[in-house]
Amino acid sequence: MKKFVAEFKEFALKGNVMDLAVGVIIGAAFQNIVTALTSDFITPLFAALTGKTDENGGIVIGGTFTFRGATFNYGDFISSIVNFVIMAFILFLLIKGTNRLMSVGKKKENTTPTTKMCPFCRSEVHIEATKCPHCTSTIE
Ligand SMILES: [Zn+2]
Repeated sequence: MKKFVAEFKEFALKGNVMDLAVGVIIGAAFQNIVTALTSDFITPLFAALTGKTDENGGIVIGGTFTFRGATFNYGDFISSIVNFVIMAFILFLLIKGTNRLMSVGKKKENTTPTTKMCPFCRSEVHIEATKCPHCTSTIE
């Protein structure tokens, strides 16, 4: 238990918790959008394609079938799968976008160094320096 608490503390202090919290909140917001998209656009579209209607003449997705007295609501199931696929796709795009942004920042840092090493005293000096501030040697 003590080890578990220590591990959690380490995890929380790493800053991953904030990232995770932001991810969860954004995920929840996206979940609402995706659910609305599915129930308002994709479900009617699917129903229009399959031509199913309920007792009021409204369109329903997929519908239900009965097997040995048990009712299977495969319409709801299809909706959930569509929700999941859209959600997964959005998450994939988000992760891909963040990875690209992060790698762009890293590359810039690596390709444009701001310091160089003085060949005489091995101290770190500014990249454009012509005289070393540590040993006063003239640098080419
Ligand atoms: Zn020097």
